[in-house]
Amino acid sequence: MNSKFPLGFYPTPLEKLKNLSKMFSNYTIYMKRDDQTGLATGGNKTRKLEYLIQDALNKNCDTIITAGAQQSNHCRQTAAACVKANLDCHLLLGGFEPETYNGNLFLSKKLNANIHFTGDNRKGEDFEILYNKLSKQGLKPYIIPYGGSNFFGSLGYVDAVKELKKQLKVQNIKIDAIFFASSSGGTQAGIHLGKLIYNLKAKLYPISVDKNDFIDESIYKKLTSIVEEGIEKFNLNTTPSHKDYQLIEDYNNAGYGVVTKQEVEAIDLLAKTEGILLDPVYTGRAFYGMIDMLQHHKIKENSTILFWHTGGTPALFNHIKELS
Ligand SMILES: *Cc1c(COP(=O)(O)O)cnc(C)c1O
Repeated sequence: MNSKFPLGFYPTPLEKLKNLSKMFSNYTIYMKRDDQTGLATGGNKTRKLEYLIQDALNKNCDTIITAGAQQSNHCRQTAAACVKANLDCHLLLGGFEPETYNGNLFLSKKLNANIHFTGDNRKGEDFEILYNKLSKQGLKPYIIPYGGSNFFGSLGYVDAVKELKKQLKVQNIKIDAIFFASSSGGTQAGIHLGKLIYNLKAKLYPISVDKNDFIDESIYKKLTSIVEEGIEKFNLNTTPSHKDYQLIEDYNNAGYGVVTKQEVEAIDLLAKTEGILLDPVYTGRAFYGMIDMLQHHKIKENSTILFWHTGGTPALFNHIKELS
């Protein structure tokens, strides 16, 4: 049985940000371009979906159900993956139907997904109802959790670390720190596992973009459970500790998806120095966090830094007003 259904183009580029490095003369800054994975404008969910979609196919399922916000990049990429794999796609999206569909929502619709609006629920609270309904119609649904974040999904980022290690070796680069946006945890858990498996020395700086007022422990529970499963499956001789995947919570005060001066500043800076687009929800926030930490000398001088670009471009078109 296959473990991966091919959806992206790899390796994604590893690019030196020459102008930005000049500007921050004490640091050398690289970017891993997972915004260029290729699936319907790309992003980090492509890597997770290769494992998740193959698991659905291996289980003879014919329909995918997943959930997210209206501007979910995960849902947009899931819709595209379903088209490729000849699966039906149902998306449970938070909020109510808007007058016009734009950004990711527009693309998800174009990619032939069945869209259900679920009010306050954007993290899969309504999975079971739809699962039962579709099952009664004779379909065989497969649930992909919110963000594609479970053990299977995170395997995409275990592979990504292997890919990065090879690029670093070929280009003779040693990195000290990796910054990236973290939300539902699968990317972070995968990078963490990949770091253990492939002995990557860099310190991880996961910038939390999603402020969890009520369930602030649940993300750590999820991270621990994915990492523990990985340690067992890969026979790693280590025990995970809460401390290993501490999220940086300094930049998410405005709440998930709220565009503030921080995100605008980061998006403008990278656009003007490197001609690269960040997104307003994830990478804009994480990149701001990285710049802020560099400016405040929270990272040792002369370090080599990697920013892992995880995609999200379509959401720019949902925030034109705030970003102008
Ligand atoms: C989903 C997403 C993330 C966060 O990844 P998680 O695995 O959910 O933590 C980061 N950036 C972008 C653009 C995303 O769509």
